[in-house]
Amino acid sequence: QHAIPNATLDAVVAKAAAGITTDAVTTHADYAAYREGGGYQLLRACVAGQHEVEDVIKTLEASGLRGLGGAGFPLGRKWRIVRAEPGPRLMAINIDEGEPGTFKDRVYLERDPHRFLEGALIAAWAVGIEAIYIYLRDEYHGCRAMLEAELEKLRLDPPVQGMPPIHLRRGAGAYICGEESAMIESIEGKRGMPRLRPPYVAQVGLFGRPTLEHNFESLHWVREILERGGEWFASFGRNGRRGLRSFSVSGRVKEPGVKLAPAGITITELIDEYCGGMQDGHSFYAYLPGGASGGILPTAMGDIPLDFDTLQPYGCFIGSAAVVVLSQHDTATAAARNTLAFFKDESCGQCTPCRNGTAKALDIINKPVWDVPLLGELSQVMRDASICGLGQAAPNPFDCVIKYFPHELETVKS
Ligand code: SF4
Repeated sequence: QHAIPNATLDAVVAKAAAGITTDAVTTHADYAAYREGGGYQLLRACVAGQHEVEDVIKTLEASGLRGLGGAGFPLGRKWRIVRAEPGPRLMAINIDEGEPGTFKDRVYLERDPHRFLEGALIAAWAVGIEAIYIYLRDEYHGCRAMLEAELEKLRLDPPVQGMPPIHLRRGAGAYICGEESAMIESIEGKRGMPRLRPPYVAQVGLFGRPTLEHNFESLHWVREILERGGEWFASFGRNGRRGLRSFSVSGRVKEPGVKLAPAGITITELIDEYCGGMQDGHSFYAYLPGGASGGILPTAMGDIPLDFDTLQPYGCFIGSAAVVVLSQHDTATAAARNTLAFFKDESCGQCTPCRNGTAKALDIINKPVWDVPLLGELSQVMRDASICGLGQAAPNPFDCVIKYFPHELETVKS
């Protein structure tokens, strides 16, 4: 266990996150300001041969940094895998951020856009990437205008020669395009539907080429980790976990927002230490640890470390760390109905277990009495036979209601 004092973490937040608040943002660190603050010097040093690729990858591996879009694949290992594939190689950066309750990428992007761009260019140098494609959530209009302007500055005054071209592509509002292979289909101009794997996108990705696919926030941390060392990032963490996580906290807390906190923090610690406690008149009843798809847990299970792998035994996961806090004025049943309706709408319709399963399960849980045996069968088929994570995780909320909130339900027994 390695608890860190809040004062230390505040300093990290100030430095790395450039002042996260939930207030409207009117300014961001533009290209000139970022360079004045030492930005792109690391990239220049890499390209000038002052750093070895192997050392950079080893530092990232030592940090324990994992993909922060939800899948949690170790970053350094992904760079090694794609690097070993034959060129030309491409990169795709996912800023679709469609998971309900998730807003961390937007918060970092609209304050410090060049930090992730430098991370992406360092990755491109290390892996040997010929072109970078950024896939931006279409609802982030302000971010798009700002990013277009900053990319233009980067093109006109490149910090290094021979930079790969960076293409900015807009999403079109489909949740499923946050899934890496559906995003790649969408960038290619096709309908966004997940691909069957293997082959994995690291081998056959964008335009049929080996592709390094990253969530925005994973790249946001690259510069900080390489400057401070892998051990710096890994030194944070609680309850045996390592690193930092950016929790998007919403719901019945006094101070919602993006909270940069140690990996492995529990929900009760997060609420008390980072969110100012519960709102007046509300007591902690339940929480969604990972957005719409990560399940629902009761207050009695508020001591589970929040991190990759720690929630799986309970049928939940942290995903992109979107934490929604419910109070005694809410019900888990209503949350499950809401999230399943979302999945039914957002199913791409490609495979039957998900397309029909979400619709059928929603019909059942919208009734006053739940047919639990039938829901159990549906859940099993959806988990076993859906092509992608949407259909596989869609049963999580109603499965959790059955397991952890039986007092809310009248059920048909087998
Ligand atoms: Fe599409 Fe759902 Fe199948 Fe995923 S599980 S491919 S979203 S139908």
